[in-house]
Amino acid sequence: MSNLPSEPEFEQAYKELASTLENSTLFQQHPEYRKALKIASIPERVIQFRVVWEDDKGELQVNRGYRVQFNSALGPYKGGLRFHPSVNLSILKFLGFEQIFKNALTGLNMGGGKGGADFDPKGKSDNEIRKFCVGFMTELSRHIGADTDVPAGDIGVSPREIGFMFGQYKKIRNQWEGVLTGKGLSWGGSLIRPEATGFGLVYYVQHMIQHASKGSETFAGKRVVISGSGNVAQYAALKVIELGGTVVSLSDSQGSLITESPEGFTPAEIEGIAALKVARKQLSSIFSADADAHNNTLFSQSKFKYIPNVRPWLHVGKVDVALPCATQNEISSEEAQGLIDAGVKYVAEGSNMGSTQGAIDIFEAHRESNKNNSIWYAPGKAANLGGVAVSGLEMAQNSARLNWTREEVDRKLQDIMKSSFENGLETAKRFVSEGEEVLPSLVAGSNIAGFMKVAAAMKDQGDWW
Ligand code: NDP
Repeated sequence: MSNLPSEPEFEQAYKELASTLENSTLFQQHPEYRKALKIASIPERVIQFRVVWEDDKGELQVNRGYRVQFNSALGPYKGGLRFHPSVNLSILKFLGFEQIFKNALTGLNMGGGKGGADFDPKGKSDNEIRKFCVGFMTELSRHIGADTDVPAGDIGVSPREIGFMFGQYKKIRNQWEGVLTGKGLSWGGSLIRPEATGFGLVYYVQHMIQHASKGSETFAGKRVVISGSGNVAQYAALKVIELGGTVVSLSDSQGSLITESPEGFTPAEIEGIAALKVARKQLSSIFSADADAHNNTLFSQSKFKYIPNVRPWLHVGKVDVALPCATQNEISSEEAQGLIDAGVKYVAEGSNMGSTQGAIDIFEAHRESNKNNSIWYAPGKAANLGGVAVSGLEMAQNSARLNWTREEVDRKLQDIMKSSFENGLETAKRFVSEGEEVLPSLVAGSNIAGFMKVAAAMKDQGDWW
């Protein structure tokens, strides 16, 4: 029995990857890769530190800060920072582990890392957030750098927090360098970075639809259930609408906003929700007595219903596409079965580890046994890599001291999403034998493709032999 502390989220992410490798022919063809997996599952380095800051009442506050520098075989450590009260080492190790293989699938030179703090931005003033970011970066700055480790945003870390942290890094190091991505446009940020994860997710699902329907279907007319209402959810929703799909829900940590209207959410309504989230408010406030005047006119109670304390999956009627875009483990086994009963054909994760292992097993069993009428599931590490891919493009633009146009970045993002999809598909065909008539497993294919690339680079660099 291991005497290590229990790390449930990390163990879940590790088992998900390891089981798909075990169930393929990879270890028969390359038995030496078992050693590589054992070594790759331990971070190169874990940094933990305290962050002491003063709140608006002049009282002292303390939080735990972390950076997991998991793997640098393919490039500088790269991965977001999460500020959320639930943050602990197990969650950051799971996110960092996923990030290694996701970054490998982008085709760019980025290693894997993740960090953050158990700081809760909700209910804090801008002044308190700035003070926390300064305290956090004062310590983190000694461990990162444009060629060492380049963090970005994640839950609770938006361009505002990136700005405060970038400013503090610059003061301490007396250096302007591309040490963070997701920066403001006028000071080194890339066009399309805010949109990239959500847009990329929808580009990925477009390929799934096109492949499974043999080119006969698109997003047009599809009903799409989305969870979350932050960065990823907002831009996924806008792209779905642009492509002719109907968005029937958004949600947050307190409940779900659902519409039965045939037009679904409109872009103006999504923008109203974006403004609400910048003000750090909950969706529940839309219909509350203190709702601001703008949202009072934008959202009508005849079009929307708000259901507290639920995720949207079982409350939207018939659906074609499900896009979890809030947090980990947000589709349970029961919800996976409910989505199948509601007619879902495509499930793709905008969030990291959006589905529980039980839910993945249900989706995958359905895929294996239903041939042409099956569900097709895409894991976060393949479907949500658009964000980190454009972060990689931001690093390239910073190094070259130039800015690409919106069209240029969007085109590169589309190419990267296409290649992530095709890589997963082709690798599954090569290493998992299920017969021509079954849709290939995107979770197995993407895991194997990402892992093989990292393992080979680690071997070349003498990390295992
Ligand atoms: P945001 O902070 O912008 O939004 C997070 C959303 O998820 C909010 O609606 C939030 O609700 C909700 N949420 C957070 N925690 C929980 C919880 N425990 N239960 C239910 N709902 C919750 O984050 P992002 O949109 O950036 O990230 C969403 C997901 O996408 C995460 O899993 C992240 O790791 C992943 N991701 C993000 C990328 C990016 O580029 N931003 C890249 C790749 C993956 P509330 O407002 O109430 O807090």
